[in-house]
Amino acid sequence: MMAAEKKNRTALRDRLPGIRGTYAEDADLGAMSWFRVGGKAEILFEPADLADLAAFLKGKPAEIAVTLLGLGSNLLVRDGGVPGVVIRLGRGLAEIKAQGTTLIAGAGANSRSVAMASRDAGIAGLEFLSGIPGTLGGALRMNAGAYGREMRDVVIAAEALDAGGARHRLDRKALGFTYRHSAVPQDWIFIEATLQGEAGDPAAIEGRIAEIAKAREETQPIRTRTGGSTFANPPGAKAWELIADAGCRGLTIGGAAVSEKHCNFLINTGTATAADLEALGEEIRRRVFAKSGVRLEWEIRRIGVAACARPQANPEGTA
Ligand SMILES: Cc1cc2nc3c(=O)[nH]c(=O)nc-3n(C[C@H](O)[C@H](O)[C@H](O)COP(=O)(O)OP(=O)(O)OC[C@H]3O[C@@H](n4cnc5c(N)ncnc54)[C@H](O)[C@@H]3O)c2cc1C
Repeated sequence: MMAAEKKNRTALRDRLPGIRGTYAEDADLGAMSWFRVGGKAEILFEPADLADLAAFLKGKPAEIAVTLLGLGSNLLVRDGGVPGVVIRLGRGLAEIKAQGTTLIAGAGANSRSVAMASRDAGIAGLEFLSGIPGTLGGALRMNAGAYGREMRDVVIAAEALDAGGARHRLDRKALGFTYRHSAVPQDWIFIEATLQGEAGDPAAIEGRIAEIAKAREETQPIRTRTGGSTFANPPGAKAWELIADAGCRGLTIGGAAVSEKHCNFLINTGTATAADLEALGEEIRRRVFAKSGVRLEWEIRRIGVAACARPQANPEGTA
């Protein structure tokens, strides 16, 4: 690291409020994302609990960029890393409680753990979450769904902190769920959600979870370094069909490949950079448009800066 860059990084760290959780400089985000590619977080913040997160947001200079990271299953972290502060919610925000046929869970909880807790409590209808890698916070942001259900079908309410740390309770309508999207402002951080199910038999729920696991194993390259569906399905069409029709199945750029098993999944074959994966995605978009006239939209969120574009963190600390 250049001396000037290191000095500016130190300056960024010094401008952040005191916390009870942890700050880590130059944290390897690639290791925290499913693709296993990408650069570092200038600073990674893991709050101890909700009060710690709220105090951080309140005390942080407004111009310092903040990026939320769940389990990185829907993210492509660019090779130059992410300037500013990346926040990852940990155990302090991952509690799961059952109340009758509702579950109240922290946004840092693993979606699969939420599904397993619903099984244990005899709450049916949340099984789909067992097959969606990631946190509940990521599932809220993405209105994640599978096998006929998505978050908007099960969320009664969610809570979020705004950029200044103020807490908001949002009912289903205020969450503004549409296909793989929530209308809640991008800089708000989900902290908790209340999910509604119905009374069910734990053994039957377990059976449904097992069916979902089997179907995924058969149809998706879930044991590879991937980011799930790369592109959103356009209205009235399936992204994978358009990609297959455009002859992109198996296409490669560098170490990035289009999955043979499910061609809306990109794969890091072991040596891919984020630039390879992004270039492959753009090549698919180009070929699909040329073949069908449809412009595919990225479902995967791309964060950070390209390797050659990593700026010297400036004294103001802005991204
Ligand atoms: C093998 C595989 C299969 C998949 N299958 C499906 C599927 O069937 N259906 C489906 O919908 N998705 C699927 N996905 C995509 C992904 O699992 C979901 O989008 C998941 O909900 C992302 O959760 P995450 O915690 O990993 O979020 P991340 O990928 O870390 O982040 C995704 C977005 O959410 C934001 N975010 C994360 N946490 C919070 C928070 N607390 N508050 C506000 N914003 C937040 C991030 O800033 C980012 O914009 C799949 C992915 C993989 C790798």
